[in-house]
Amino acid sequence: MKGHKVSVDRELCYGSAECVHRAPAVFAFVDGFGAVRPGHEEAGDAPEVLEAAEKCPSQAISIAVTDAPSSPDRP
Ligand code: SF4
Repeated sequence: MKGHKVSVDRELCYGSAECVHRAPAVFAFVDGFGAVRPGHEEAGDAPEVLEAAEKCPSQAISIAVTDAPSSPDRP
């Protein structure tokens, strides 16, 4: 099973906070930038996270497919 690691590139993010509104369980607003909440780095396969990545106006959100398993509560 593959994992889906989500991350925010602070160099690209300009702090629109749209990701926080779309997926508040995964993204937080920290020091004026979007950030992945600790413990949610592998939530990149959640629909709301995929949507947040697609709709990020600066394309600062990346989802990398890894060999690590997805969140244990997801099939
Ligand atoms: S939606 Fe994109 S630009 Fe806006 S805070 Fe999130 S990562 Fe940053």
